[in-house]
Amino acid sequence: MVAQVIDGKAFAAKVRAQVADQVAKLKEQSGITPGLAVVLVGEDPASQVYVRSKGKQTVEVGMSSYEHKLEVDTSQADLLALIDQLNADPAVHGILVQLPLPKHLNEDLVINAIDPAKDVDGFHISNVGLLGTGQKSMVPCTPLGCLMMLRDHHGSLSGMDAVVIGRSNIVGKPMAQLLLGDSCTVTIAHSRTKDLPDVVRRADIVIAAVGRPEMVPGDWIKPGATVIDVGINRIDAPEKGTNEDGSVKTRLVGDVDYASAAQTAGAITPVPGGVGPMTIACLLANTLTACCRANKLPEPKGLTA
Ligand code: NAP
Repeated sequence: MVAQVIDGKAFAAKVRAQVADQVAKLKEQSGITPGLAVVLVGEDPASQVYVRSKGKQTVEVGMSSYEHKLEVDTSQADLLALIDQLNADPAVHGILVQLPLPKHLNEDLVINAIDPAKDVDGFHISNVGLLGTGQKSMVPCTPLGCLMMLRDHHGSLSGMDAVVIGRSNIVGKPMAQLLLGDSCTVTIAHSRTKDLPDVVRRADIVIAAVGRPEMVPGDWIKPGATVIDVGINRIDAPEKGTNEDGSVKTRLVGDVDYASAAQTAGAITPVPGGVGPMTIACLLANTLTACCRANKLPEPKGLTA
């Protein structure tokens, strides 16, 4: 079997178009423009790229983007004061603090200072609790993107066996909650799981969120299973030659060995071009959802869990 490729890039473009369409209607019918504030502390190069990309895509769908770039030595009190200000600002419907924060700042404290209704990353303890109890919440963007792709591919997920490899608070755990919410039978695997290959072989749906390049080979995959690869790992690619400084060029791979898994799976997301583009698309969807909820308007269809 050669797996069907689940094209996250195309799917994300569809989600962004849906968001843009609804934002235009919202502006026309209610005069409201959804606004997303992104806070970046320090100058981590990867975070700067993400923040730039988030700002650009926010504007492209017709929303207002507010970027707050703070010095690397910003105090906790100053950061919390900015969050208070954004919490109180009616033009801001979503707040995202780019992680990781510099070591002297307490991430949990900062995230939990965000108004849960504006917590478009879905990391606030209230949203974690709401998701865990099956109540309306803000859902973390990466797992939400995975869920959207799975629902689109399968229709109903009810009764399917799902294995999530990885138990992080930002991907593995919320992913498992979402799959449970859609009536899958869910196993969460992690670094201490015994006989991981056998656990994975039982799954109709495999979500790999580990951060280890190509660790899941094709012979762990049940024939016909759907594989969602969340991993983003940069590895050396000597076949691409060297950079000007003599260092070896690199390429991105997932947590799944794509070449062998694509021979066994029924469907698979590539890296790059799978889960990655869905994450920002879902951030925009969450901001629109937060804006509709704040204004007591009907929520956009198909853009939330
Ligand atoms: P993380 O916080 O480092 O968590 C990794 C998880 O993998 C942990 O639960 C760990 O288990 C588990 N693990 C480590 N080695 C393992 C092994 N040999 N067998 C089974 N499980 C193992 O990572 P994360 O933040 O969830 O991110 C995971 C990956 O997704 C990374 O590559 C990251 O870059 C990527 N990611 C992508 C997006 C996107 O937009 N596409 C968004 C977020 C993250 P323990 O808990 O036992 O240590």
